[in-house]
Amino acid sequence: MNISSTNNSEIIFDLVIENGTIIFGYNRPSQILNIGILKDKIYTFSKETLRGKNFIDAKNLYVCPGFIDIHSHSDISGFSNKNCLSKLYQGVTTEVNGNCGIGIFPTTQENRTNLAKYIQTHSDINYHSIPLEKINTFSDLKTELNRYKLNTNQGYLVGAGCLRIAIMGFKSRIATDEEIYKMTSLLEKQFEEGALGISFGLVYQPGNFMSKKEIIEILKVVKKYDKVASFHMRDEGDKIIESIEEIIFYSKMSGAKINISHLKVMNKKNWGKAEEILKSLKTAKNMGVDISFDQYPYNATCTNLFVLLPQNIFSGDINLFIKDIPTLSENILKEIWKNINKRGGGKNISISNFCTNLFNFNGFSLYEVSKILNLSEEESVLYLIKESEGSVQAIYFSLDMKDVKTFLKSDYGVIASDGNSFPMTDPFNLGTPHPRSFGTFPRYIDLLKNELPIEKIINRITSKPAKIFRISNRGEIRENYFADITIFNLDEIKDNSTFENPFLKPSGIKHVILNGKIIVCNSSALDSKNGYII
Ligand SMILES: [Zn+2]
Repeated sequence: MNISSTNNSEIIFDLVIENGTIIFGYNRPSQILNIGILKDKIYTFSKETLRGKNFIDAKNLYVCPGFIDIHSHSDISGFSNKNCLSKLYQGVTTEVNGNCGIGIFPTTQENRTNLAKYIQTHSDINYHSIPLEKINTFSDLKTELNRYKLNTNQGYLVGAGCLRIAIMGFKSRIATDEEIYKMTSLLEKQFEEGALGISFGLVYQPGNFMSKKEIIEILKVVKKYDKVASFHMRDEGDKIIESIEEIIFYSKMSGAKINISHLKVMNKKNWGKAEEILKSLKTAKNMGVDISFDQYPYNATCTNLFVLLPQNIFSGDINLFIKDIPTLSENILKEIWKNINKRGGGKNISISNFCTNLFNFNGFSLYEVSKILNLSEEESVLYLIKESEGSVQAIYFSLDMKDVKTFLKSDYGVIASDGNSFPMTDPFNLGTPHPRSFGTFPRYIDLLKNELPIEKIINRITSKPAKIFRISNRGEIRENYFADITIFNLDEIKDNSTFENPFLKPSGIKHVILNGKIIVCNSSALDSKNGYII
C-alpha cells in the first residue's frame, strides 16, 4: 500500500487517524483501517499501528473524503475576514464557485462597472470587500484570493454572464461573430489559467439573450479543453423537458460535457415528472451525451424576486429599471401573478432578505407583505425590488419531496448546496437565508442512510463530483491524495438548520481535516484556515 519503499514503521506521521471505518469515495467496500498523513497528503492506510505526532481516535465513526460541493456561490465568502464556516461544519472541504452564469471574473476595463452591477443583483453578501479593480482574469483572482486564509478549498467556473458582460455589457441583442470570437478567446485564457469549467444562467440577464450559435461556440471551447459546462436551465417548471432537450442539443452539437444545475421540478402541476426526466437523461446518455446533474435536498428554492418578472420586461441596465420601475400594463401584472403561482403562490413565497429602516419582512410570506402594504401581491413584488435596489431574495416552496427523493437516488446526479459559506451568526444581515447553506450534506446522508449503501451515498459527494469537474487528487481516500477528510457518526448525522432558524450547525460531523490539518475537532472549528485554491 505504500507509495515508496519506506516501511511505515520507520515513519512518524504528522497525523494518524485510528480505528475508523474508511469509506474510500470510489467503488470499494468500507474497511476498518488506520490512515497516516504526512504534511498535506494521505501517505498510507493500513491495518498496522502507525506512529504519529497527533492522533484522532475514529472508533465507531466513518472516515471518508471531505465532501465536494460543486454548486457553490461562495465567490465573495473567500474574501471575507468573517468566519464563514457553514460549509465546513457540514464536512465540506472543497467548493466550486462561479455557478449559474454568475461570478467575479473575467472582465475588461470598459465593462468593470457593469460586472459590479451584475454581482450586486446576484449576491447575498456585499461585494465591496473584493478588490474588483485588480481582477480581470482567473489568474488575477487567484493572486488576490491568495492574500486570504480560506475556510475550504476553492475552485471556480467561469460565469457565462460575466464573459458576455466583459465583451458586450448588458446588451440584449444576439452577439456578432466578432463578439463571439472575443468571448471564446477570453474563455480560453481562463481555462489555460485553471478555471474548472463554465456555467450558464439561461434564466438571468444577460444569459437569456445568448443565441444558440453563441452557446455552441462557447461549448466547443469547453470540449477542446475537456472541461464541463453547468446549466441553470431556461425553465425548471412547465417547460422543464424542453429545457433539458435544449441543453442536450447543445451538447450534441459541440461534444461538450454538460451538467444540469440544481435539478428540480417547480410548480405543483408538474410534480411527479422526475421519473420522466430521468428517462430523458438515460436516452441522452445512451446516445453518448455526457450529462449529469446536481441537486439540493429541500422542497424549496431560493433566488432573487426578479425571477417573478416576465422575461424581457427590461433590457439593458437592470439598475436603471429598478430606479424607475415603469407603470406596468395589466398584461405584465398578469404575467407576474402567473409567475407567483408557478412558484407556489403568495402564501408559499417567503421573503428571506429584505430589511430597511421601515420594514423587516424577513420570514414573512408575500401574501402577508401584501396585506401589510395594502398592495396586490404583484405590486408588492415591484415594491420590494425597488426598495431593496434589486437585492431582495425569497424562498419559494414550489417542489415536491417525492421528486426530490427520486432524483436523490439516481446514479446520474451529485448533491450540491447551491448555497454559500456563511458565518454561523449574521454579520452580513442575510435575514433568513435558505438552510441549504447550513445543512445540505448531513441532510442528504440522513435522508438516504436507510435506503442506499453508505459507500454509494458518499460517492455522490466525493469521488463522483471530483471526476465530473476534473478536480485532481481529491475526493478519494488514496495514497498521495490531499488529506481532505470528514469523520462522522452515522447514527447522529442530521441537519438542524430550518427555514425559520437557519443559522444552526448540523449534528454528527465530528472532525474535518483540510489539506492535512485538523480544522474541525469534536464538532468545533479551530482557528486555523487551510483551504487551497484549486
Ligand atoms: Zn442557479
